[in-house]
Amino acid sequence: MLIGVPKEIKNHEYRVGMTPESVAEAINHGHTVIVEKSAGLGIGASDQAYEAAGATIIETAEQVFAKAEMIVKVKEPQAIERARLQPHQLLFTYLHLAPDPDQTKDLVNSGATCIAYETITSHTGALPLLKPMSQVAGRMSIQAGATALEKSKGGKGLLLGGVPGVKPAKVVVLGGGVVGFNAAQMAVGLQADVTIFDKNPNTLESLSNYFGSTAKTLYSTQASLEEALLTADLVIGAVLIPGAAAPKLVTREMISKMEPGTVVVDVAIDQGGCFETSKATTHAEPTYVVDDVVHYCVANMPGGVARTSTYALNNATLPFILALADKGWKAALKDDDHLLNGLNVWDGKVTNQPVAEALGYDF
Ligand code: NAD
Repeated sequence: MLIGVPKEIKNHEYRVGMTPESVAEAINHGHTVIVEKSAGLGIGASDQAYEAAGATIIETAEQVFAKAEMIVKVKEPQAIERARLQPHQLLFTYLHLAPDPDQTKDLVNSGATCIAYETITSHTGALPLLKPMSQVAGRMSIQAGATALEKSKGGKGLLLGGVPGVKPAKVVVLGGGVVGFNAAQMAVGLQADVTIFDKNPNTLESLSNYFGSTAKTLYSTQASLEEALLTADLVIGAVLIPGAAAPKLVTREMISKMEPGTVVVDVAIDQGGCFETSKATTHAEPTYVVDDVVHYCVANMPGGVARTSTYALNNATLPFILALADKGWKAALKDDDHLLNGLNVWDGKVTNQPVAEALGYDF
């Protein structure tokens, strides 16, 4: 199959659909890969690195879209990219169509086959192509929080792990799923005093088994949370109720009672955030202060570490890229119900039920 990798054009998006290593794998499987000039520069992968992997560098995005049978990207196609899609083409990328009627209409009208990373499932019912980005955001939340705790950034002037003879900082993690687990791992690694809140008894049990005495686990109630927040130094917001806006676990009143210089990192901001005072920020200006509490609410945290994120994403996407290219998309979807769950648009129709229901398409 002829696979095309255009350069991402969404504002401040530095990731790329395929690393040179993934390109080499596809070529070993007998496929041809064309990569737009400079597509990998944001992750430090030069055109020469792609050529060494066996790709052909193509001057413009128009040419990539004109030639490729399968387009592999990271972000949803922008309007100019959607206009280039052709009916015979396969698009494989994050789409997030439910809140995006314009994109959905354009993809339906294009006639292309569009498979979304975010709705592919695994045998455990999880979303394996979202997981790596949650891992990245969870780990990054502790780095971001540690920096914001510095005095010059508005924080309390605390080092997460303290030093011998000085207390460590108190880190409270709200939600012990993928983000929360990875945040807790990093905080424990830095020798902070870590408490993880969740409502799912099975999650609490596995966290407790994993962390032993290095982190406390607590069932999440308003009272238990309020008590922990009063003395917390860094709070990570990582709750998710699938398909719903994040619950506002921390009210404005609770924020006003927290100690000055406390830092909150609201990773769940992409679902509206779990602090009442949260509003989305960017990597250019990641923090703001409410009632002396520093808020970090970057909605696309993985974009800040584009190289790690691209490699993590490719580890998850490559098996699907190869299945689609080796078997052809029809056979690949027939063979794998989990990949089939990724099919969002086909032959001018919306083929994902929640997207169809959200946007009023027939299903
Ligand atoms: P997950 O489903 O793995 O974990 C969510 C956890 O929240 C679950 O364990 C659940 O039991 C728990 N939870 C639900 N309600 C709770 C409550 N009232 N109190 C305590 N815990 C509660 O989800 P995840 O992959 O860890 O993602 C968490 C959030 O981070 C999502 O909103 C996701 O979209 C977001 N995210 C943001 C970024 C970013 O760049 N900002 C990147 C990746 C993920």
